[in-house]
Amino acid sequence: MDHDTPAYRKKRPSSKSLAQKRSDHRHEYELCIIRSLLYSWGERCRICGRFRSNRRSDHDLLKPASLKKPAIGLSDYLSVSQMKEKYPGIRVYELDFCGSEKVYKEILA
Ligand SMILES: [Zn+2]
Repeated sequence: MDHDTPAYRKKRPSSKSLAQKRSDHRHEYELCIIRSLLYSWGERCRICGRFRSNRRSDHDLLKPASLKKPAIGLSDYLSVSQMKEKYPGIRVYELDFCGSEKVYKEILA
C-alpha cells in the first residue's frame, strides 16, 4: 500500500513572494498621526517607513470643545503644533494619493 498520495503533497507557492515583498526585519512600529480627510492615529515602522493604521480613538487629538459636536471637521482638531506639544516627539504625516499609491509626507510644524 502506498500512503504517500501525491495530492496531499502540496508544493510551496514560489511565485507568490514576488508580489509580496518580504521584509528582512521585524517591523518596529512607532505611533504617529496621519492626516488625510481628518486626523487619525497610525503607526510607522522606524526601519522601513511602512505605515499601518491604529485603532486608537482620535478623541485625544480633538480640541476639548469639539468633543461633544455631532459632526467633526478638520478645524475641530488641535493644530499640528498643539499635537506635538501634547505628544512630544510625535510625527505627523499627510496622506496623499498619487494614483493608487499612498504617499506620506511629514508635516513639519
Ligand atoms: Zn519595517
